[in-house]
Amino acid sequence: MFTRPGWAEGRSGCDGNGHARERRVETLVIIGSGPAAWTAAIYAARANLKPLVFEGEPQGIQLPGGQLMNTTEVENFPGFPEGITGPELMEKMKAQALRFGARAVMENVVGVDFSEHPFRIRPNYSEEVRALAVIVATGAYAKWLGVPNEERLAQMGGGVSACAVCDAALPIYRNKRLAVVGGGDTAMEEALYTTKFSSETVIIHRRDTFRASKIMAERVLSHPKIRVLWNKRVIEVLGYDSITGVRLEDTVTGEISELEVGGLFVAIGHSPNTAFLEGQLELTPHGYIKTKPWRTATSVDGVFAAGDVMDDYYRQAVTAAGTGCMAALEAERWLAHRGIGEAPVLETAETPAPMKE
Ligand code: NAP
Repeated sequence: MFTRPGWAEGRSGCDGNGHARERRVETLVIIGSGPAAWTAAIYAARANLKPLVFEGEPQGIQLPGGQLMNTTEVENFPGFPEGITGPELMEKMKAQALRFGARAVMENVVGVDFSEHPFRIRPNYSEEVRALAVIVATGAYAKWLGVPNEERLAQMGGGVSACAVCDAALPIYRNKRLAVVGGGDTAMEEALYTTKFSSETVIIHRRDTFRASKIMAERVLSHPKIRVLWNKRVIEVLGYDSITGVRLEDTVTGEISELEVGGLFVAIGHSPNTAFLEGQLELTPHGYIKTKPWRTATSVDGVFAAGDVMDDYYRQAVTAAGTGCMAALEAERWLAHRGIGEAPVLETAETPAPMKE
């Protein structure tokens, strides 16, 4: 039976700000707080679905707001010709969602149960919340090396970043020798991108062969501005206010050396934040949430996914926001098909699409 929104199990009220203390059936719960989550919240709130957003809690370098909280200037988000800082952009998106009636809870979701409907959402401290529809937009985190000085300089915009496409055009990186760590396709892509701005790009890889696809590796190896340091790993980032170099260890001989650089891009992979799902949604071979092609519908009817948790290809703030919009529209139409909300029932909304391979 499809339950309507309202009170469940005789419990009372839901405050909306602070902690979700009560158990009621929410129409739409959004899990996450990056550009995908807040865009979904803006659309859902404007559609009168009163979404409840679990925006997460600070955990080390991961902050509510997602990866943009660790970037300084964002210059490629349309609408901000002078640029905007990552945290400010997230603050504005959140304010826009709250303005239209979204409610935010600063708490992690630690478990879900999608096997029954209404779905069960288990926050870290508060009581369980039930929901008719759910949008998962928990993002992904870039892996870091975990060496001294890396996190500190990354947080203060001191020339250490995990995203060249986001940051390499910033003045701090221009006309300098830039280092990229990693040997996969991401590292190849990042290295090629940095050549637009660097005086030289040095790839630092811990082995003597790349993991990257042949075509990408060939592009890198034949690029006049790129040099590769094989069998080297970064053991320390040097510099106080901004990076001045990296200390390296040869993985074969153990020899220690230093390389002067004006920027470091760590490109050793990403991990989507899916642990709390405990295998309840189908994932891709790389661990991202599997969605229908050009849709955000997941393997569970009524659960949608948006942003970097389902996208290992574009990984941009603007594409995350785009899929957040898609997820909200799909959730709205999915609910409308079940008599909830005011959205017109569109034939296209339920068009069956095969799952991605
Ligand atoms: P990846 O393929 O897992 O490569 C990660 C690289 O980082 C590996 O070379 C690995 O070294 C290195 N690494 C991992 N941990 C390290 C550490 N602690 N210290 C130093 N090096 C470390 O990750 P990815 O490059 O992000 O790619 C992920 C997937 O997305 C791949 O399937 C890739 O093909 C795909 N992708 C595709 C494109 C494209 O088609 N344009 C672009 C980007 C990514 P080892 O090799 O020694 O393990």
